[in-house]
Amino acid sequence: MNKWKLLFIIPITYIICTIVVNVIGVNRELIIPVKAASSKNWDLKSYWYYPWGVSGIHKGIDIFAPQRTPILSPVNGFITSSGYSNNGGNYVNIISADFRLYYFAHLNTSGISQFRFVKKGQQIGAVGNSGNAVSKPYHLHFSVFSFIPILLIR
Ligand SMILES: [Zn+2]
Repeated sequence: MNKWKLLFIIPITYIICTIVVNVIGVNRELIIPVKAASSKNWDLKSYWYYPWGVSGIHKGIDIFAPQRTPILSPVNGFITSSGYSNNGGNYVNIISADFRLYYFAHLNTSGISQFRFVKKGQQIGAVGNSGNAVSKPYHLHFSVFSFIPILLIR
């Protein structure tokens, strides 16, 4: 690859994209991805201290709700994958237009099929306790990953 491309074009594109995404993101509002849930349905501190993962960091929040409560997409996006894994159980991944990845785990049954678009508020699955949550109360494990740095947070 050409040296100029490596030194300037890629970093500048990266910086511009980050700024654009964050400016657009300022007015973007997520919805809580569990129907009828409020911030009382999760413990924000669980992200940091609850030693569930191998790494010792939980990397997400657990939104508690009755079994089969609809899980709603918090964004307009695209289902990059959905399936079953030992830890996550039935899971769904959504990518949004600003390249954030949303991960939903422990669904009651398999979620929405992959490689399709979803609208904000559309149902993508239902709350369960599949995967490593089998003996735990019904909840949605919800994580957001960003591939590019988030400069501005509302
Ligand atoms: Zn969790």
